[in-house]
Amino acid sequence: MPKGKTFIICGPSGVGKGTVVSRLMEADPTLYFSVSATTRAPRAGEADGVHYHFLTRERFQEWIDAGDFLEHAQFVGNFYGTPRRYVDEAMDQGRDVLLDIEIQGAEQIHQKRPEAVRIYIAPPSWEELERRLTGRGTEDGEKIRSRLARGREEFAAARDFDYLVINDTVEHAAAEIRAIMTAEHCRPAERAAQIEC
Ligand code: ADP
Ligand code: 5GP
Repeated sequence: MPKGKTFIICGPSGVGKGTVVSRLMEADPTLYFSVSATTRAPRAGEADGVHYHFLTRERFQEWIDAGDFLEHAQFVGNFYGTPRRYVDEAMDQGRDVLLDIEIQGAEQIHQKRPEAVRIYIAPPSWEELERRLTGRGTEDGEKIRSRLARGREEFAAARDFDYLVINDTVEHAAAEIRAIMTAEHCRPAERAAQIEC
């Protein structure tokens, strides 16, 4: 059985990463979504161990010291990190892994595991991004401004990604990501190894 692949989903806060990832998971339950650890407070409706592992700053540092993170980064005042073990276990089981992470974390994984596929999700316009982030209603005005500013700054890095998907509709963005995942499994090095001699 071939190993699973890692697909990194990056993009500005509020663009719809979580929404598109949920759509992908509904369509294919064999996908593994990596639940990150964070020091930010849970939002209404977020459950520990489902949306994030919610950790204190001290506990987060213990995970760093123990080498438990594949990557970790600071984003607008909080820490976020990808637990290494579950990602590796899922890939060993042949499952594709989806990581919803910000750009510094994507760069760390790219350095360590260049075979991981990096997909950047962009909004159809910056006005629409602001509408979505405001409409979500999870952050106050100042935090929204910080997240929008960070998103615009980081957009220049999107050109270095493997793929750029515009989240105009969730269905369209999810379909493009599914197409990317299918294409990545057709790369000759992997496919040739599956042909029986
Ligand atoms: P992210 O995970 O990138 O921060 P979310 O998935 O939380 O973003 O989406 C932010 C808001 O935008 C949510 O209210 C979500 O329902 C909405 N949204 C996501 N995708 C679309 C879309 N294609 N069109 C309109 N609204 C969307
Ligand atoms: P939010 O607070 O909106 O859930 O997430 C803020 C940002 O942190 C998003 O860009 C999200 O992709 C990113 N993020 C979530 N988990 C991780 C992680 O494990 N590592 C990194 N580097 N970023 C993460």
